[in-house]
Amino acid sequence: MKIQTAVFKQSNTDYKKCPAPTMPEYAFIGRSNVGKSSLINMITGKPTLAKTSQTPGKTQLINHFSINDQWYLVDLPGYGYAKASQKEREKWDKMIKEYLKNRTNLHCIFVLIDSRHSAQKIDMEFMQWLGENELPFAIIFTKTDKQSKTRTQALLNEYATKMLDYWEEMPVSFSTSSLTKTGKDEILKFIDELNQD
Ligand code: GDP
Repeated sequence: MKIQTAVFKQSNTDYKKCPAPTMPEYAFIGRSNVGKSSLINMITGKPTLAKTSQTPGKTQLINHFSINDQWYLVDLPGYGYAKASQKEREKWDKMIKEYLKNRTNLHCIFVLIDSRHSAQKIDMEFMQWLGENELPFAIIFTKTDKQSKTRTQALLNEYATKMLDYWEEMPVSFSTSSLTKTGKDEILKFIDELNQD
């Protein structure tokens, strides 16, 4: 798929106010600083579409972008920011989980994970919650340019072993780098195929 147009549509805190669910939708989420904004800008080819390095814990919004007037890309606020208050965490939880459970046009949730770190409890718990709610997701491992391929592979294997404690098989996953554009074609092809369903 070639991205012709990527246009910001709306920011919301309430899923009920999001754009009418008339096109397939793909949401991107992960721990704050995982590289989500950089990845969104990389796959859309629009370097300033999503704002990178926003102060974590700032206004938490569900951001809709229309891609090629064919599908929605949704930038969701990150989780796991250490300095977030209990109240902020609860707000995030309610807003995001309501959105994920009720958004009828959601085809896939991309869970971003930093390829340099071992499996983190917060990511595992989030994916478990997605599974319990029968929500389709895929994993995107980010920042693979920051270490050797061997090291990335070792961590991916470790992840797969941990995932298999919970799941019968490893979810679809992508290795990416926003710096080298690794994974861009694979992710867009995956979305293209789901759009045909
Ligand atoms: P977000 O908070 O998840 O949206 O993360 P950002 O996209 O703002 O990225 C956080 C930091 O990681 C920034 O300093 C980025 O430049 C850096 N970063 C993000 N993706 C990559 C990547 O693929 N490779 C490298 N080397 N740095 C990255």
